[in-house]
Amino acid sequence: MQPAPDCVQRRALYERYHAALRAYIDATDALDPLEIGNEFDHGYNLAMWARLEFERIRDNYKRHMQQHGCG
Ligand SMILES: [Zn+2]
Repeated sequence: MQPAPDCVQRRALYERYHAALRAYIDATDALDPLEIGNEFDHGYNLAMWARLEFERIRDNYKRHMQQHGCG
């Protein structure tokens, strides 16, 4: 594959990557005012899922750049 510096697919993946990062940060920020307890546990689980989703999308983004040579 030829390098494609202006790769449309990469840009789309980057937007998802950034949105997932934003969601992860928001989920983590939401924990800050919570007392330790059920509400916190629920919020913590949401934050963990947001982190896993973020990592999955980040890996997709990196893999795309490696395979496509557009990084
Ligand atoms: Zn690409």
